[in-house]
Amino acid sequence: MLDVVIVGAGLSGLSAAQQLLKKDERLSIVVLEGKGRVGGRTVTLKLPAAHGEDFWDLGGQWVGSTQTHVMDLIQELGLEVYPQYTEGKKVLHMGVSDSQVHTYTTSLPYCSPLVLLDTTIFLLCKTVSVNDPMSTPNALQYDSMTLQSYMDQHVWTNELKQNIGVCTRTAFGMEPSQLSFLYFLMFAAAAGGLLPLLETTPGSAQESRVKGGTQQLSERLADQIGRENILLGSAVTAIEQDGDVVQVKTATNTFTCKAVIVSCPPHLAAKIHYTPAVPTERERLTQSMPMGHLIKFIITYPTAFWREKGFSGEIAVQPSAVCPFSVTFDATSPSRNPALVGFIASEQASDWGTRTKEDRRDGIILSLQKYLGPEASGFIHYEEKDWAREEFSGGCPVNIMTPGMLSFYHPSLRKPFGRIFWAGTETATLWCGYLSGAVQSGQRAALEVLGYLAPETLSQVEREVAEASKNHAVPRRTWASNTLSQSSTPLVLATITLAATLLLSQSQLSRYLIKQAFVFLQRAGLKH
Ligand SMILES: Cc1cc2nc3c(=O)[nH]c(=O)nc-3n(C[C@H](O)[C@H](O)[C@H](O)COP(=O)(O)OP(=O)(O)OC[C@H]3O[C@@H](n4cnc5c(N)ncnc54)[C@H](O)[C@@H]3O)c2cc1C
Repeated sequence: MLDVVIVGAGLSGLSAAQQLLKKDERLSIVVLEGKGRVGGRTVTLKLPAAHGEDFWDLGGQWVGSTQTHVMDLIQELGLEVYPQYTEGKKVLHMGVSDSQVHTYTTSLPYCSPLVLLDTTIFLLCKTVSVNDPMSTPNALQYDSMTLQSYMDQHVWTNELKQNIGVCTRTAFGMEPSQLSFLYFLMFAAAAGGLLPLLETTPGSAQESRVKGGTQQLSERLADQIGRENILLGSAVTAIEQDGDVVQVKTATNTFTCKAVIVSCPPHLAAKIHYTPAVPTERERLTQSMPMGHLIKFIITYPTAFWREKGFSGEIAVQPSAVCPFSVTFDATSPSRNPALVGFIASEQASDWGTRTKEDRRDGIILSLQKYLGPEASGFIHYEEKDWAREEFSGGCPVNIMTPGMLSFYHPSLRKPFGRIFWAGTETATLWCGYLSGAVQSGQRAALEVLGYLAPETLSQVEREVAEASKNHAVPRRTWASNTLSQSSTPLVLATITLAATLLLSQSQLSRYLIKQAFVFLQRAGLKH
């Protein structure tokens, strides 16, 4: 019998395996991976370039200095980072396609002074506890609305709405109308605020890139873990728990073990058949966490003509029928092979995803010519990856939560179920959705397994980490906590006043009516 089976050889699953073996090298571990490669949502390709060939990431690429989990791993594995090129003019084109194109050189886009007063949304990120998002003031209210409906009610400058729209499309591959507002705040809080998601400055999400590409992280972890322990092309279809034994099934094999770490994205974890069935909360949560949609592209060039013309290569565009992409950045390699990287995001990805690769390429080049000049047509190579079409990913960069999911089901995302433990960037509390979150989640799941199988190998601090997810109960809602949000408070107060008045009048009928009303409200509350 194996000690641990890990489902998924992405960064989280392999980080979990590494952590387990660091703690106890005698553990027998098998990693089962559906794809024919390791790395999951990271993939690095060799592409034709100005000086022969070079490497570019078609999946996750940026890292930042505050992303300590991935930065430590990069250092440990002997890899290096280099800064994102940001010098020169950045292009901002919001509104309709013939509206004015702005350029700016600051880290954030040019905005009117009014936007500076319209900053509540930035401050709200600071009020969210990632571990316990329901403790946020107005949590229920915020989780019952989308980011778009919050902005419609509380953000009064179109500029800010449009900028947050671009951020949402590229960070989540989703429209603001698709995300729970509380989830959006929690995601930003896990990154240290909203600004770190948007910027390329030190500490931000787009600060640096990994020399040679991020898939090397998984390749080097796989070497450490032992390639013979990683079975590619082995999609897990079922997990059965019976007493002290777990059976993990693929189409052709059954692996018997003491514990399992499932590290695939929640919407794919939901496709595995569990016996006994996972708790209803988890089932409903994972069924309601859609994956974003990004098509990422790299275009290599003989020269970095944009730099020569004083542009940084960064362009942010409002979706329109003519321009496929939302953002582009300079992607010149450390060996000075010029390139641009960009994303067709969300609705645009659904729309342009149905067209041919040549159509997308031509649409992108036409827009680059408009923003950076005619030299954009003289490219060497165009490469793209539509992550919605990638088997065992089904989209990217991250599964999001729709309204209601945080309030009702969130802790079940990482709460172990018997001998099944959950990893994956979506379960992270620091830089959730990012490479760093993937590493953190894998390391945390490994500690949970050890807390279960071999607690004596853990320090006191590690034991506390291992216990935390187990103890985080799904909140039990009562009618009071369900209805006592900001907007319904007057209604509840009015009801209580009416009830008190009736009680004071002491009539038999009013007592009966009040009792029936409370029974009704309690029953309604318990249903949730
Ligand atoms: C285009 C794109 C751009 C991104 N940009 C950035 C960025 O710049 N910076 C950043 O930090 N992050 C970025 N990300 C996100 C980052 O790549 C992910 O957060 C991270 O790679 C997730 O790792 P993971 O191990 O949690 O999940 P995954 O990488 O998805 O790993 C899960 C693994 O499970 C496997 N699997 C699924 N189902 C099964 C099954 N049934 N049986 C067996 N195996 C299964 C999958 O094949 C996969 O290998 C980006 C992602 C994409 C795609």
